[in-house]
Amino acid sequence: MRLVESVLVDLDDTVWYDRRYFGALRRALLVECKDEVDRRALAKLLDGSVQLSIGECGFVSSIREVARTRLSAAVERIESAIADFQKHPIEILPGARQSLELLTREWPVIAYSAGKQAEQTAKVQRAGLSHLFSKVVVVEKKNPDSLMDVLGQMGMTPERTLMIGNSLVADVQPAVAVGCNVIWLDHDENGNGRSGILPPQAMRANGWEEISELIRRTFEPSHHGGSQ
Ligand SMILES: [Mg+2]
Repeated sequence: MRLVESVLVDLDDTVWYDRRYFGALRRALLVECKDEVDRRALAKLLDGSVQLSIGECGFVSSIREVARTRLSAAVERIESAIADFQKHPIEILPGARQSLELLTREWPVIAYSAGKQAEQTAKVQRAGLSHLFSKVVVVEKKNPDSLMDVLGQMGMTPERTLMIGNSLVADVQPAVAVGCNVIWLDHDENGNGRSGILPPQAMRANGWEEISELIRRTFEPSHHGGSQ
C-alpha cells in the first residue's frame, strides 16, 4: 500500500460534465449564424476556441471576439446563446459524489482546477459539493510549475499526494512529472482529455466506481482521520 496524505481532484469533466455544454453552444451558434457566415469557416473558428480556451469565461471571451470581428449582425443572437450556456445545469459524473464522500473520510480533498477562481468556486457551490472540498484551488494554467507552487503553499509533498483528473495533458502528465501518485479518469465524454500519452506511472480508471476500487486497493492514509 502507498501512503497518501491528501488528494487533489480536478473539476471540469472529472467531477462534473463540462465540454458537453461547450459543444451545445457551438451547435447553437452554427444554427444562429448560418445566414451570416460560411458554416465550415465558423465551425473551424469555434473548434479552435474550444481547444484553446480555459474555463467557461475563456470560451465566452473567445466567442465574443469572433462575434465582434466576424459576425456583428448576429451579436444579439450570439449573446442570447451565451446566456443559455452560462445557465447550464451542473451534472455530476456517475459515482463522483459518493466516491468523494468516501475519500473525505480518509483524506483532505482539494479541488484543483484551471480558469477563474470565482467561476470554479461558484460551480462547486451550484453542484452542492462545497462541504466535500477542504479548499478550491484555481490556477491560471496547469503545468508542473503551477502544481509544485500549489503543493508548496499547502505544505504537501508530491509523493504523499494523489491526483485524480480526466486530462492527460493538464492533469496526468504534470502530476507524474513532479512525482505525485496519479489516477487518470477516463469516461465516455472525455474526448479532449484523451489527447496525449498516458505515462506508465499513472493508473487508469474508467469511471468513479473504478477509482474507489483502485484507491481501496492501492492507497492508505498516513494518519487516521480526514478533513471531516
Ligand atoms: Mg478536467
